Amino acid sequence: MTTLVIATSSAHKLREMQTYLTDTEWELVLKPDSIEVEETGTTFMENAQLKATQVAAATGQWAIGDDSGMAVEALDGAPGLYSARYAPTVKEAIDRVLGEMADQTNRRAKFICALAVADPSGAIVLQAEGVCEGVVLTAPRGTGGFGYDPIFYLPAQQMTFAEMPAERKHQLSHRGLAFAAMLPQLRSLHQEIDRA
Ligand code: IMP
Repeated sequence: MTTLVIATSSAHKLREMQTYLTDTEWELVLKPDSIEVEETGTTFMENAQLKATQVAAATGQWAIGDDSGMAVEALDGAPGLYSARYAPTVKEAIDRVLGEMADQTNRRAKFICALAVADPSGAIVLQAEGVCEGVVLTAPRGTGGFGYDPIFYLPAQQMTFAEMPAERKHQLSHRGLAFAAMLPQLRSLHQEIDRA
């Protein structure tokens, strides 16, 4: 088993990544709190790469970085990279988006998740992205999930992310799709490391 350091300090992210990466040979561990990564990228992928590179270089181990957020078409892609910091609380962030969308008939939005894996020198060796398209409702619906889930509606499912069983969200979401694309790459990489 080779260690893959997750470039986040959040135990929630560790659990979530473990769910997506079950049946791989990688042993997932959290990055030490002492390693701070600045998210100075201009895209989700740049931020995912920055996290993976800096944590790999600091620990001397393989590392995976991720970044995600919601981009609303009528708001020129906002909250986008600022999704986590759009307001002091999640409720206020939702209210801000709904307020900014008040007069908008174009409700199209998408969630994006970027993943990047760096080798122990910090070089990026794998990357994957997942996108999930939907629309922003005019009021929240549902109690599950987190973040903007109650206002992100998938017309084909006739549900918001917050109304959906977690397993279905895992299959359809930007993060689920990004991990589905990353999983085979991570498996092959581990086989290469084993053979070396
Ligand atoms: P991060 O990738 O952990 O930095 O998350 C960025 C922010 O995007 C989160 O704090 C949420 O506000 C938002 N976000 C990312 N993924 C989701 C999701 O699946 N549902 C709802 N909000 C999300």
